Amino acid sequence: MRSEPLIDAKLYDGITAHPQEVKVSRFGDALLLSQESGWSDRVNAALLQRLDGGRSSLRLGRTDVAGWRLILPETAADELGTLLGHQERYGRWIDRIGLVPALVVSALVTASVVGVGYLAPHCLAPHVPMSWERNVGGAIVGDFGKLRCRDAAGQRALEALVDRVSPGAAGGPNAIKVAALDVPVFNAAALPGGYIVVFKPAITETDPDALAGVLAHEVAHVQRRHVTEALIRELGIGALIRLFAGNVGANAEQIVSLSYTRANEAQADSDAIDMLKRAHISPQPTAQLFRRLSKEAPEFSAEFLNSHPLSSERAAKFATSFDPHARYQPALSRDQADALFDICRKKR
Ligand SMILES: [Zn+2]
Repeated sequence: MRSEPLIDAKLYDGITAHPQEVKVSRFGDALLLSQESGWSDRVNAALLQRLDGGRSSLRLGRTDVAGWRLILPETAADELGTLLGHQERYGRWIDRIGLVPALVVSALVTASVVGVGYLAPHCLAPHVPMSWERNVGGAIVGDFGKLRCRDAAGQRALEALVDRVSPGAAGGPNAIKVAALDVPVFNAAALPGGYIVVFKPAITETDPDALAGVLAHEVAHVQRRHVTEALIRELGIGALIRLFAGNVGANAEQIVSLSYTRANEAQADSDAIDMLKRAHISPQPTAQLFRRLSKEAPEFSAEFLNSHPLSSERAAKFATSFDPHARYQPALSRDQADALFDICRKKR
């Protein structure tokens, strides 16, 4: 019989956005997680790592499962201490940005967590000012340097397309900044700080109506703060602060390939369908694109599929929103479409 005490904890499994209530106990050199439903899981202590966090909780991650988080009361550290080994004296991000600023940041984060009342990424994300993330997204776009497509007329057309699906989104203090990149992979991604990058094939191997659907989906990820939420889920709040402090390099790859929860993806699709409807753009080209991509050779669309699993249901969702009585308009004028097509063409 087990004599170890059961500790109440919250588990983020890295797949679903909502935490699950679990009971945690020590089981030899492993943690035993269980639920009243009878579900249980044993995690070897060697796979566990302490994460940066507030003083009021003990946060554990797994080295083998991205986004997996176990939030325990701080007192659990005593009971599980020997299992988890010794904690670093301060913590990596404190060493980077200095102890005093770290204490200030930590106090702010603790205050906001207590104020919001939840540690959940989807509760926290809307409270992270977009301006904090600007340097992260800007640095990643800047990293692409020469690959950035800079044709002025093409850029105007791309921005017009964003504005077409979400009127006003390309202006104002939280403006979405969209950039085309001359990278031969079908991809589009939302980055921190309201940046959206579109890779060349997503422009030249689609038509503007289908690209409108893809952009609308990414705009929804930005506006719903899914990007921030994914950052908190995958990196933890400590790493997020480290990012804001300017250490982007090591995480750039992870940020471009952030994965969203299924719920977030479904929401972005629904929002995109609504945006297309309001803009009087037919959803059919987007549905056809998704259908086509899901059948393409993996090397062609692997990256897009990684962050955006395409299924026949997703395509069908767009297709069924088609209204035969609607008066759909092209997403861009002929001139804009031509300019957009040439956005990555070098002027000489
Ligand atoms: Zn998505």
